[in-house]
Amino acid sequence: MQHGNEFSTLKVAIVGAGPAGFYAAEALAALCPGCEVDLIERLPTPYGLIRSGVAPDHQTTKSIQQTFEQTASRSNLRFVGNVELDRDLKLEELADVYDAVVLACGAPHDMKLDIRGATLKGVYGASEFVGWYNAHPDHANLDPDLSARGAVIIGNGNVALDIARILTRPVRELASTDIAEHAIQCIAGSKLTDVHVVGRRGPLDAKFTSVELQELGHLQDVVAVASSDQMPEGVDDGVPPRERRAKVKNLECFRAFAEADPASASRRIQFQFNARPYNVLGTDRVEAVRFERTRVENGSVIGTGQLFRIPCGLIVTAIGYRARPVGELALSETKDRLRNDDGRIKPGLYVVGWLKRGPSGKIGTNRADGEQIAERIRVEVSPAGKPGFAALQQALRSRGLRWTDFTDWKAIERAEIEAAAEGAPRRKFPSIDRMLQICAAKSPAVASL
Ligand SMILES: Cc1cc2nc3c(=O)[nH]c(=O)nc-3n(C[C@H](O)[C@H](O)[C@H](O)COP(=O)(O)OP(=O)(O)OC[C@H]3O[C@@H](n4cnc5c(N)ncnc54)[C@H](O)[C@@H]3O)c2cc1C
Repeated sequence: MQHGNEFSTLKVAIVGAGPAGFYAAEALAALCPGCEVDLIERLPTPYGLIRSGVAPDHQTTKSIQQTFEQTASRSNLRFVGNVELDRDLKLEELADVYDAVVLACGAPHDMKLDIRGATLKGVYGASEFVGWYNAHPDHANLDPDLSARGAVIIGNGNVALDIARILTRPVRELASTDIAEHAIQCIAGSKLTDVHVVGRRGPLDAKFTSVELQELGHLQDVVAVASSDQMPEGVDDGVPPRERRAKVKNLECFRAFAEADPASASRRIQFQFNARPYNVLGTDRVEAVRFERTRVENGSVIGTGQLFRIPCGLIVTAIGYRARPVGELALSETKDRLRNDDGRIKPGLYVVGWLKRGPSGKIGTNRADGEQIAERIRVEVSPAGKPGFAALQQALRSRGLRWTDFTDWKAIERAEIEAAAEGAPRRKFPSIDRMLQICAAKSPAVASL
C-alpha cells in the first residue's frame, strides 16, 4: 500500500483517450498525487466517441471536453496521440516500463447483421456510418449512396435516432454543426424522403430516451410517424416506478407520432416495431430489406412467419458493438469487452469504460470506472522505479513514429476552428496526414522523429 509522496514515482499508462481514459486520469491525479500518467491514443486527437460518436447537432453534449481539457492541462498528465497499441507498441512493452497499465480502448466495431444479403453494398454498421459523418479518419471514405428515397436503420437505441435525424435534417441546419464536410456534401445531394427505424420488440421495449424522442417532434420539415396499431394500451403495473415513468413518456411520444400527418413534411422518420430483419434484397447493392413480424412472449422475440419488405438504398445497423482484441487478452463470450475481474485483468493491468463493461451507458457512466480503478491502483500497485515516458519516447523514436502532444492537438483544433464555415463550431479534418502537417507547421520539433 502506498502513502503520501511515494506516488511521486508511480508511472501509469492509460491506453485510449476517450471519456473512460480521461476519467481514469483525473481520478488518478486526485487519489495518487504526483503520479505520472501518460494517455496513449491511436488518433492524433483526444476524446474518443465524444468527437466521433456524439451527433454533430448535439454540441452541448460535447462540452464535457472542457472538463477533460483541464485534466489534460495537469502537469503530471501527458497526451501521447497517434500511437496505437498492437500496431506501434505491444502491451508487454508498456507493462515493462509502467507500474500500471489501464486499457480504455472502447468497443469500436459493429455487431454484424447475420442474415442473407447483409454483405451487399449499401449496408453499414452504425460505428462506421456515424464515424463517417463525424469525420473519423477510419471511415472518411465510406461514400454512402443516398440516391434512393428509402433508408432503414435497424435498432431501437439513441444511436438509431441520431442517424435518422442527421439523414433527414435540412442541410442548412447541419451547416451550423461540426459534421464532416464530405458528409454535408453527400447529404445535400440526398434524395432520401423516408427513414425507417425498425426494432424487433415493441415500443415499450425500445431503448430510446424520451428527450431524444421528443426532439424528433420538433424538427423542421421532418415528421416522425408511428402506427397506432402498434401502440400498447399502457405500461404494465409490475414495472418499477422510474422505468415506468420513462416508458410512459416514450409511449406519449409514439402516440403523438401516430397522430401526425405523414404528408405534413418533406421527410419522414417512420417507426416500425415488432419486426426483425429476415434478408437483404438486391443484386449489386441493397434494394430492399425483408422483415418478419414478431411478437414478444415471456420476454423472448418470436417470429410469426409474416414477412414484409421496405424498399431502400441504405441500411444502417445500430445493433451493438464489439471490442477490438488487445494482444492475447481474452474477450468475453459476448465479444464486447475484455474478461476482467471488476476492472482488473491481472496484476498491474486494468480496464475501464466500454472495454470493461461492454458498450452501454452515457459519457458520465464511465466516471465511476475511472474512480474505482484509480482506487485499486492506489491500493494494489507499488512504484518500482520504472522509467515510464522516458522509455516510451525512446521506443517511439527508434521506430520513427510521430506522436502528438496536447499542444499539437490544440493546434489542430485551432486550425479546425479557423476552417469552419460561418456559424459552425469547427470543420474537422478527416485526414491524419493533414493533422500531422498542422502539427509539423506549428513546431517541426514536436511530434518528433
Ligand atoms: C454513436 C454514439 C453516440 C453516442 N452519443 C452519446 C451522447 O450523445 N451522450 C452520451 O452521454 N453518450 C453517448 N454515447 C456513449 C459514449 O460515447 C460512451 O459512453 C463513451 O464514449 C465510452 O467511453 P470509452 O472511453 O470507453 O470509449 P471511446 O469513447 O470509444 O474511447 C476509446 C478511445 O480509445 C482509442 N483507442 C482504441 N483502440 C486503441 C489502441 N489500440 N491504441 C490506442 N488508442 C486506442 C480510441 O481511438 C478512442 O479515442 C454515444 C456512443 C455512440 C457509439
